[in-house]
Amino acid sequence: MLIRFKSGTEESRIHEFKNRIQGLGHESFYEADSSCLAVPTLKTKELMLQDKEVQMLESAEDPVEPYHLVSNRFRTRQNLDFGTHLFQKPDDFLIIAGPCSVETEEQMELIASAVKQSGQRFLRGGAYKPRTSPYSFQGLEDLGLKLIREAADRHGLLVVSEIMDPRDLDQFLSFVDVIQIGTRNMMNYRLLKEVGKSKKPVLLKRGMSATLEEWLLSAEYIASEGNSNIILCERGIRSFDASTRNVLDLACIPRLKQMTWLPVIIDPSHGTGYSSLVPSMAMASLAAGARGLLIEVHPDPKKALSDGQQALTIPQYLELVPRLKAIQSVLYNT
Ligand code: PEP
Ligand code: MN
Repeated sequence: MLIRFKSGTEESRIHEFKNRIQGLGHESFYEADSSCLAVPTLKTKELMLQDKEVQMLESAEDPVEPYHLVSNRFRTRQNLDFGTHLFQKPDDFLIIAGPCSVETEEQMELIASAVKQSGQRFLRGGAYKPRTSPYSFQGLEDLGLKLIREAADRHGLLVVSEIMDPRDLDQFLSFVDVIQIGTRNMMNYRLLKEVGKSKKPVLLKRGMSATLEEWLLSAEYIASEGNSNIILCERGIRSFDASTRNVLDLACIPRLKQMTWLPVIIDPSHGTGYSSLVPSMAMASLAAGARGLLIEVHPDPKKALSDGQQALTIPQYLELVPRLKAIQSVLYNT
């Protein structure tokens, strides 16, 4: 149930209402900017409204969607929290760049300095890698987190890295700025809940065969634990055609805008699987309204320990960024 209060309703009366609902055994979430209270586990017909409550209500509805907190009905895009260090202004566009896996200190230094040189703020790199084969490189684990943190700190960058196990959360809280949940873990609900209990920004990738609704419900798991600092990342979905590694669903960008206030970014590296296809799809993502990109970059892709085929070289990355900025300036008139 979503309840909208009339403008000017006193906060104390809203709190009284919230307490009554809590007494009935239902958790509720209040969004001050839209004067909206979400009570996901309660239907309007189950709540006998008291006369004094009816007076302060603008509307009460049962949304058809199963998600509440990440819905456009609960919050509007305009009140996206630009106060966080992720988006610094309404038309901000994030480029998160770095290798698939953290490999060496030298590799991370080269990439971090390129990210800085390109005017971007986010360095990515996997330390715990979800590999299809148990015999493939699994990541440097805690050493990897240390190397990416040190490289980022030398250049004043923020760190994005993937978590696979809730037992590593404390380590992630101290080493990374944005916790990535990968495609394979989009439905790891215990992990989502644990990450939701922290306040760390979360980059939630789309499951490789997840519908938009399933994806938003995964985001709802995080939000319902108290953490709404979520960025959605489309990384391609599985299909029958092996010409590209995955099928990059750019239509999800405008469609998600109709469904959620959460920002959407695109990963054209995993989305296509080939570095030669990354620049086109990066530019197309921006044109379709994405709020950012996640791009794999490696100083020597042929020698990469994972996903080398889809990694841009540093010169290719440095050439792409100004083209993206040019598109953004046309789109947003900046
Ligand atoms: C990655 O970002 O390197 C990664 C493993 O991504 P995904 O979860 O999209 O496969
Ligand atoms: Mn990768």
